[in-house]
Amino acid sequence: AKTQQRAGYFYFSRNMGVEIRERVRMMHALRNAFSQNELFVMYQPQVDLQSRHPVGAEALLRWRTRDGKFVPPDRFIPIAEYSGLIVELGEWVLRTACKELVRLRAAGHLDFTISVNVSQVQFRHPQFLSMLRRALDDSGAPPAFVELEITESMAMEEPDMLIEMLNQVRQTGVKIAIDDFGTGFSSLSHLQRLQVDRLKIDRAFVTEITGSSRGSSIAEMVIQLGRNLGLSIVAEGVEDERQAQVLYHLGCPLAQGFLFARPMPADELSDWLAGEAR
Ligand code: C2E
Ligand code: CA
Ligand code: CA
Ligand code: CA
Repeated sequence: AKTQQRAGYFYFSRNMGVEIRERVRMMHALRNAFSQNELFVMYQPQVDLQSRHPVGAEALLRWRTRDGKFVPPDRFIPIAEYSGLIVELGEWVLRTACKELVRLRAAGHLDFTISVNVSQVQFRHPQFLSMLRRALDDSGAPPAFVELEITESMAMEEPDMLIEMLNQVRQTGVKIAIDDFGTGFSSLSHLQRLQVDRLKIDRAFVTEITGSSRGSSIAEMVIQLGRNLGLSIVAEGVEDERQAQVLYHLGCPLAQGFLFARPMPADELSDWLAGEAR
């Protein structure tokens, strides 16, 4: 038993070494990619479920390496967070998205909101608020059409500090959405104290909606919760028409997903919007 334990230990620690080395390698590659302009932002439209008209888009970070390979954000975002690079990257995404919003407004899309993901590391940074104000000022983006997405897991930590921080963020005029909603355990009373504008129903519950009745009951619960609190609600990851129908009948006003549009580069977004307006 003893040797087995030892073998287990060595196996484990060797893998740890590999994992850490891989992370460090990725971290350098990411830093390099950022300075070499290998990173860019794609936009995925969000639509009104009744009219199917676009109401906004979520900015999603992309990394295409020089040999044309895409590294998925689920792989590099955790590394950016771990290394702290997310602070710089997140600022760049926000600034890029604000500029895009200004461009879209100049093209006549005045009722259109851009949503930007904000990671916990970024949000907790002491300069987050001043960074946000500068990004808004420099770009001239109207704050009411900029939305920050924070995750539900983040919304559950240190309530008092978070409430204070959210109040300050909202004073800039930007909107706040809770992303991946339904995956955590926020209570009604907690949510009430948080003063957010929107809930995004996690894709997992949208996927389940046309399957088991238990799945649809979670989405249904989130929609009811949002409606009771007077919040806007977006369902994410809507892939087929049946899901869209069920969500609409459950009272979900907005949706995002491959059924409507995939994430696209900025220039395609303006074309797509022009097409939708016709
Ligand atoms: P998320 O914020 O939950 O973003 C939604 C993800 O669902 C996106 O994945 C999007 O491409 C994908 N998606 C949208 N519609 C559908 C659908 O109908 N079916 C399926 N299967 N997937 C759909 P993506 O772009 O790979 O991003 C993954 C995650 O990486 C995001 O999840 C977010 O947590 C993170 N992320 C992306 N960009 C940023 C960023 O700029 N900053 C931060 N902090 N995180 C980011
Ligand atoms: Ca998001
Ligand atoms: Ca999400
Ligand atoms: Ca998600």
